[in-house]
Amino acid sequence: MSEIVEVETRQARFVLDSSECDGCGECMRACPTRAIIVGEEYLEIDEERCRACGSCARACPTGALRMEPRA
Ligand code: SF4
Ligand code: SF4
Repeated sequence: MSEIVEVETRQARFVLDSSECDGCGECMRACPTRAIIVGEEYLEIDEERCRACGSCARACPTGALRMEPRA
């Protein structure tokens, strides 16, 4: 099922296109603070841990995960 999941933390906005996500876990492994958990159709970001560095989105091989820093 294709679903766009949006998550906002204090510092960033994340958009996950679940139809492009194959659950590889690269985003989770790339996160220096272990703030992110991605399942088949969901994305969880621990707001307290996330530093809005963008490593998770850069590590995503399919482009399923995007991150935009918030102003
Ligand atoms: S932006 Fe950085 S700190 Fe936040 S979930 Fe992604 S990799 Fe982790
Ligand atoms: S790196 Fe991209 S494709 Fe892999 S689990 Fe994370 S969001 Fe999904």
